[in-house]
Amino acid sequence: MRIVLNGGHMPGMDPGACGAYSTEAEICRKVMESSARLLRDMGNEVLTVQSDELEAIAGAVDGFGADIFVSIHCNGAVTQAAKGTEVYAMSEEGYELGLCIDRAIVDYLGTADRGVKEGSRLYVVNQTEATAVLVELAFITNPDDEWLLNERTDDFASALAAGIIQYIK
Ligand SMILES: [Zn+2]
Repeated sequence: MRIVLNGGHMPGMDPGACGAYSTEAEICRKVMESSARLLRDMGNEVLTVQSDELEAIAGAVDGFGADIFVSIHCNGAVTQAAKGTEVYAMSEEGYELGLCIDRAIVDYLGTADRGVKEGSRLYVVNQTEATAVLVELAFITNPDDEWLLNERTDDFASALAAGIIQYIK
C-alpha cells in the first residue's frame, strides 16, 4: 500500500491548537514520524508531509499516487471540558478507514469516543483521490488529553498504524 501521513500544521510557523504546555504541530509531527516507521516496517510505502500550505500537501499526495491519506491533528476548544478522539471522512471507504483508526485509538489510549463524522469541508481530504481521513487524536486543550498526547505519543502512533493495517486487511 502507498500511504501518505500528513502532520497537521507546521512547527515554528503554524502551531495549530495550543495546550497548556504543548502545541498541536509538534505532537502531530512526532505521531506522523513514528507511525510512518511502523507502517514502513510492515512493508508499506509511506510518504510523510507537513506544511503550512495546503496546496503543497495536496500536490505531494497526488504525485505519490497514494492509496490511503491520513491527516493527523489534535483538537482544540475554548472550554477545557471538551475531550476525546474523532475522525472526519467524506466517502464510504473513508468512513471504514475512520472507524478502524477511531476504535484503535480509543482502545489503546482510553480516550472518549466521539466517532467518525462527515468531513466534506476539509480541504486536504477533498483534494485527493486516495481513501482519506482527518484524525483528531485528542483535545490538546483538555488537561487529561494533553497529558496523553505528550506522555503516550508513541501509543497514538501505534494505534494509528494499527487502525490503518486493520483497514487494509
Ligand atoms: Zn489541526
